[in-house]
Amino acid sequence: LLPTHPLPDWLASRARSTPERVALMAGGESWTFAELDARVDAMARRLAALGVGAGDRVATLLRNGPAVVEIVHALGRLGAVLVPINIRLTAGEVAWQVADSGARLLVCDTHTAGVAAAVPVPRLATVGAVPDAPPGAVALETVPEADVALVDRHAPEEIHSIVYTSGTTGRPKGALLTYGNFWWSAVGSALNLGLHADDRWLACLPLFHVGGLSILTRGAIYGMTVVLHETFDAEAVNRAIDEERVTIASVVATMVWRMLAARGEKPYPPWLRCLLLGGGPAPRPLLEMCAARGIPVMQTYGLTETASQVATLAPEDALRRIGSAGKPLYPNEVRIEKDGRPAAPGEAGEILVRGPIVTAGYHGRPEATARAIVDGWLHTGDAGYLDEDGYLYVLDRRDDLIVTGGENVYPSEVEAVLLAHPAVREAGVFGLPDPEWGQTVAAVVRLEAGAELSAEDLRAFCRGRLAGYKIPSRMRFTHEPLPRNAGGKLLRRVLRESWTTCDPAPET
Ligand code: ATP
Repeated sequence: LLPTHPLPDWLASRARSTPERVALMAGGESWTFAELDARVDAMARRLAALGVGAGDRVATLLRNGPAVVEIVHALGRLGAVLVPINIRLTAGEVAWQVADSGARLLVCDTHTAGVAAAVPVPRLATVGAVPDAPPGAVALETVPEADVALVDRHAPEEIHSIVYTSGTTGRPKGALLTYGNFWWSAVGSALNLGLHADDRWLACLPLFHVGGLSILTRGAIYGMTVVLHETFDAEAVNRAIDEERVTIASVVATMVWRMLAARGEKPYPPWLRCLLLGGGPAPRPLLEMCAARGIPVMQTYGLTETASQVATLAPEDALRRIGSAGKPLYPNEVRIEKDGRPAAPGEAGEILVRGPIVTAGYHGRPEATARAIVDGWLHTGDAGYLDEDGYLYVLDRRDDLIVTGGENVYPSEVEAVLLAHPAVREAGVFGLPDPEWGQTVAAVVRLEAGAELSAEDLRAFCRGRLAGYKIPSRMRFTHEPLPRNAGGKLLRRVLRESWTTCDPAPET
């Protein structure tokens, strides 16, 4: 059905067609496509000298920086596979992903050397200055370049990377992402958001998640400047938008809140045309606040297993369809399934995705792959619905759905209301077994430092904002941070499991 013609090395093509354009801006420096191409070439030859060849997996444990960009593209030129690992994981978790992926080389930097030192791996390399380099680690910059033939094209089905899902629902699984996945993701995104000659896409999300990684592949495919930040810093992002003329930025909700808080009343410049908001539920108050201030926030729905965006709200719908994640990116399809049959418009069920962005499967897990992808349809585990006009609304994780007295409650909706209370810093909502209702809605609420609030007050706040059956009947308050995974996502499963064992404060 889809073209099988090999894809050329994206960056090398750009170095030929648009050599003088700026490919990358990071840390006050910038590189044209020609310059980046030459650096990537050298990096590929150094990695080859370390024994990296076709089909080898190379794990990276790196903060965002130019070296990551070089390594990502260089691995392609060796026909090797990137395994980008979350730098917030513990040594044990990193070791698990390294072993599971079969990586032969782990690349770390000064921030991650301590963790990397504790990870069993055949070979360890460092990038940048690493004063306390683990014993046996090779500094990549010092490796002489090997004289090897580099790969300049890839079959669409060739594996580009193995990206581990963040594990909110269990042990992480390595999604096999192909060159075709990234190619079609980039094409679908451009056909939705458009591609402007002056586009500059800001990557302040980590490059070890698909939300960040896909910015790099898009940049190379489009011939577009990528502005790379080492970490998220709201003021630095606002400054980059103003001074470096960033036109698009990929963000998650907490980032937007912080950007707005740091910015005050100052409007964003007209060239900022899209804050692509993904990674989790988009809180309605945030969307409405941005709409009122003319900030072009566009909600997107995406997964690791789809190399980022599945559906994204088109610019012209941003205000009219607030709360929706838009329509599927060309040429992908989205379907809602309820009890094994297609759901009616407006009816909630599991979100299924089919198309060339869907992963080739989970590394080394044929059963999990066969369960997740049936007849080409990826079962996302997310609940949502399509409205009459085909716009997607994402509700929540299907597994987190609470059914109380036959009514469905989506925890993220309840959490959003709790979070709207000024004394509430964090909120986690989940179902507990209940003899009368099947399940009942429970909440663990972390208050702002020094704040005091009773369960009755908070329930009163919810009334008028939520139907009665959605209001948490059981509540606990805590001053401790709620459990989150390394990607910052709330672990409702852990909250539910620890409800009986840990006792942050008496139940109210
Ligand atoms: P795991 O799959 O291991 O449980 P994870 O859920 O964090 O981890 P990711 O691939 O990192 O996996 O994130 C994708 C998930 O993020 C989606 O499945 C969905 O639950 C959530 N998500 C993404 N976009 C949206 C959105 N617009 N609205 C609501 N949820 C979203």
